[in-house]
Amino acid sequence: MASRTAKSAKAKTELRRTRLGPSRGQKAAKTKVKARSLSKRELAEFRRLLEDERTRLLEELEAMEEHTPEVEDQVGMDIGGGYDEDLADVASSTFEREKGLALESSVQQMLAQVEEALGRMEEGTYGICQRCGDPIDVARLRVLPFATLCIRCKELEEKTNGAR
Ligand SMILES: [Zn+2]
Repeated sequence: MASRTAKSAKAKTELRRTRLGPSRGQKAAKTKVKARSLSKRELAEFRRLLEDERTRLLEELEAMEEHTPEVEDQVGMDIGGGYDEDLADVASSTFEREKGLALESSVQQMLAQVEEALGRMEEGTYGICQRCGDPIDVARLRVLPFATLCIRCKELEEKTNGAR
């Protein structure tokens, strides 16, 4: 009687095992596909790249901020002159200044993107598409280290924007 109970219990365990088997296998396979994100080494490489880029952009901004007040002083002096030649100078100075400001804001934008990317690295979400959650292709990140979308989502977004 006792041996019989043990036998049936063993059979049940085996049945449970076979039932668990395939579903476990599927889960493992899914995890494998998702793990195709960046390796630790690649992450370190991109971190270095982003930090270098941040330093470069900060230096660029600093150089611009040092330069901008000088241009403003010149514009003021030219207006005081009142000659036609000076007006042309004012126009070109204003243009230069606006160009400079546009450049400055684009550098600031890029800096913000770089800092966001570094922030995502801290959170552990770097290299993951913000739209679909898939890993972003490493080749794409090498070209654009602060990319937030995978190439598929980016193309989709561009198509949507182009249709406007
Ligand atoms: Zn995506």
